[in-house]
Amino acid sequence: MIDLHTHSLVSDGTDTPAELVAKAAQAGLTTVALTDHDTAAGWVEAAEAAQQHGIALVRGAELSTKHHGQSVHLLAYLYDPEHEELTSLLARVLDDRTPRLKAMVALMAEDGIDITWDAVAEFAEVGTTPGRPHIADALVARGVVGHRNEAFDRWLHNGSPYYVKHFSLETAEAVRLVREAGGVPVVAHPFAAKRGPLSAEAVRELAAAGMLGIEVDHRDHDDAARALAADLAAELDLIPTGSSDYHGTGKHNLLGENTTSPESLARIEAAATSKITVLR
Ligand code: AMP
Ligand code: FE
Ligand code: FE
Ligand code: ZN
Repeated sequence: MIDLHTHSLVSDGTDTPAELVAKAAQAGLTTVALTDHDTAAGWVEAAEAAQQHGIALVRGAELSTKHHGQSVHLLAYLYDPEHEELTSLLARVLDDRTPRLKAMVALMAEDGIDITWDAVAEFAEVGTTPGRPHIADALVARGVVGHRNEAFDRWLHNGSPYYVKHFSLETAEAVRLVREAGGVPVVAHPFAAKRGPLSAEAVRELAAAGMLGIEVDHRDHDDAARALAADLAAELDLIPTGSSDYHGTGKHNLLGENTTSPESLARIEAAATSKITVLR
């Protein structure tokens, strides 16, 4: 069982990288990818745990990008984390996340929602990638909502009046940089209804820019979305993947609930050209 999309406390998951890897092994996975948002900061800890638990590890990240102004999550596998241009742009994304969250908190507080930056900072400062889920965590801790999902549905979704953008890369530029860094770019959950799905044309444009894979099986894809993604994978010769997008207790997604075929993993490995290999 191969699960190629998970998050740890380094971004907006709730397990440490080591805990996540241990749980992946317990869940019967043979291979897990750690794909925290915009960072490789969990790789070393995850690698140690993977060796200890006898599970293969794909080191990756999920990059926050935009295509024609629309938010696109781009999974990047096996890239060189020392590639200067990619790393410096990701540092810019990370740097802009705190002022952006502060701006969202200020808008919410002005409107009478019971939230302060200090309350959010307790959650946002644990890892390296502060995000909206940490505002949600503060709201849950204060008893304002029962779960992260509720905070997103009410106030934190992309169309909310409290939504503030952070700096992000153009998706096509991110695709180019990930390839230059020897990695394999795969578009995450392209047709997730709540995020505002990409068009098939956008997927074609990204494939033309060098994108190599498409997440087909994902909780946020219904049957029609999965069929469209699989058709595009065939049409564009993209590597089809499936993943849980596990976030610990932050989402209901369970490790291994969607999986990737050994053939697709082999294609990802064959396409990677950096010194970062799948750890076995
Ligand atoms: P950000 O990177 O700060 O824009 O936040 C995006 C993150 O919010 C995504 O990576 C998801 O993990 C999380 N997210 C989005 N929608 C929801 C939801 N409905 N419930 C829980 N988490 C969500
Ligand atoms: Fe997330
Ligand atoms: Fe995502
Ligand atoms: Zn994700």
